[in-house]
Amino acid sequence: MAPNTNLDNSRNAILFERAKALIPGGVNSPVRAFKAVGGTPRFVQRAKGAYFWDADGQRYIDYIGSWGPMILGHGHPAVVAAVQQAVLEGFSYGAPTEREVELAEEIVRRLPSIEMLRLVSSGTEAAMSAIRLARGATGRSKIIKFEGCYHGHADALLVKAGSGLATFGNPTSAGVPPEVVQHTLVLEYNHIAQLEEAFALHGRATACLMIEPIAGNMNFVRASVPFMKRCRELCTQYGVLLIFDEVMTGFRVALGGAQSVYAKSIPGFQPDMTVLGKVIGGGMPLAAFGGSRAVMEQLAPLGPVYQAGTLSGNPVATACGLATLREVAKPGFYEALGERTRNLTNSLTQAATKAGVTFCADSEGGMFGFFLLDRLPQNYATVMTTDSPAFNRFFHAMLDKGVYYAPALYEAGFVSSAHTAADIEATADAAARFFAGG
Ligand SMILES: *Cc1c(COP(=O)(O)O)cnc(C)c1O
Repeated sequence: MAPNTNLDNSRNAILFERAKALIPGGVNSPVRAFKAVGGTPRFVQRAKGAYFWDADGQRYIDYIGSWGPMILGHGHPAVVAAVQQAVLEGFSYGAPTEREVELAEEIVRRLPSIEMLRLVSSGTEAAMSAIRLARGATGRSKIIKFEGCYHGHADALLVKAGSGLATFGNPTSAGVPPEVVQHTLVLEYNHIAQLEEAFALHGRATACLMIEPIAGNMNFVRASVPFMKRCRELCTQYGVLLIFDEVMTGFRVALGGAQSVYAKSIPGFQPDMTVLGKVIGGGMPLAAFGGSRAVMEQLAPLGPVYQAGTLSGNPVATACGLATLREVAKPGFYEALGERTRNLTNSLTQAATKAGVTFCADSEGGMFGFFLLDRLPQNYATVMTTDSPAFNRFFHAMLDKGVYYAPALYEAGFVSSAHTAADIEATADAAARFFAGG
């Protein structure tokens, strides 16, 4: 890999100035702005396989993959062909298509907990609609979420814990009235005793518990098996719908999603509802929510819970998603992806250990996290104890060496099937040089 020496950042910098004049912060989604790590965001010109090139022509090994969707790498030939064909047939009709049925069939085949589903255009929309449906189906108002889990930016979810379990959350964003989050209870991830206490107090008034089973929005943190088992038991006992937000983990950590990972340790384990996005669209705006027939039939036009979308099930997006899901369903796909990802985290850990740098890492399928901590964190507060100036130095050193990690210490990373052993080795070499002080 050619290192990006003599970095000429002038075109990125000019574009950032132009963008900032018209778009708040110069970006259309906040984390892209490099606010956490400082510096000038890279404006991407094109991407292919495991790489993208910025406006100054510098190449980067891409460990974001559009924050998860690009599990096959960029520009996979089968996906490109499917999208090109779909574009020729029309962009959007506002009437149903065969491809929506095919995509629904493909998802239901891989996730046995889903009997019916609805397609939407973003993870935010899917999570928001799932909560409305859970409330409509149970006739209850309260919802439980966990600190550090992200479920998109619906008002009721932009909330942090109140003081004590008797009080509900406080908004984390201006513009969200306190009344809108008054039914949202925010708990600590992996804290079983607090979970039990919350159910004893509020279980009978709670519609749903929403969780990222393997959290990817506080870096990479797994829900422990005992914690997940207790979530399932309590939800069943109190008639609360257990909603897995698998927008990030669905078709990313395994063909059957994170729920299939927990089902290996907890016999018969299934969530009641699942929210999907990212990989199921293969890089196009596509997401979904689904669950049992009885719950899903509460949705309009069959039932009383309203939900709709002009571009839902878009024919180009469904072509892209379907082609992607057909590739990942090929035998051995996740075994190979998981091994490559483990090679990355192992070689980074070795490089750090050799240099005496505190470091640990974890992964599942094509999703990983690394930490400048001496052991894997179990919750958001521990993730946030990371030495952030040290992380920022690491991030910028790697960027200068042509490796693009998420520009914030509280984000997970992603490996695609296009990443080669040589890419992993080049990444580990770059890290080793940084750890050794170079
Ligand atoms: C990305 C993400 C969302 C939001 O999806 P958008 O498509 O960005 O609206 C929701 N939940 C999880 C777990 C995510 O990772």
